[in-house]
Amino acid sequence: MSNPYLCPNCKTNRTRFNIMEQVPVSVKLDPGTGNLVHQYSEEESLDPFHLPYNGSSRLVQCAACGVTGEEEMFIKRAQSKPL
Ligand SMILES: [Zn+2]
Repeated sequence: MSNPYLCPNCKTNRTRFNIMEQVPVSVKLDPGTGNLVHQYSEEESLDPFHLPYNGSSRLVQCAACGVTGEEEMFIKRAQSKPL
């Protein structure tokens, strides 16, 4: 299922976008060096103090004016101003 987009900034672009799929990787780092101590696999459960990624799965950039935001912003704007 797809949804129309409309840029909430320039308010004219409905066709040209750059879409960034977010692929979160949960890691544990060494506090002193920043070196990777552990990278969680998808099946593995996170430790009790590690919150899972809760951001949007997809970011969208308007390829006309360059503004970047959550996909929802572009969908909502298109729904409020249908063609
Ligand atoms: Zn725009």
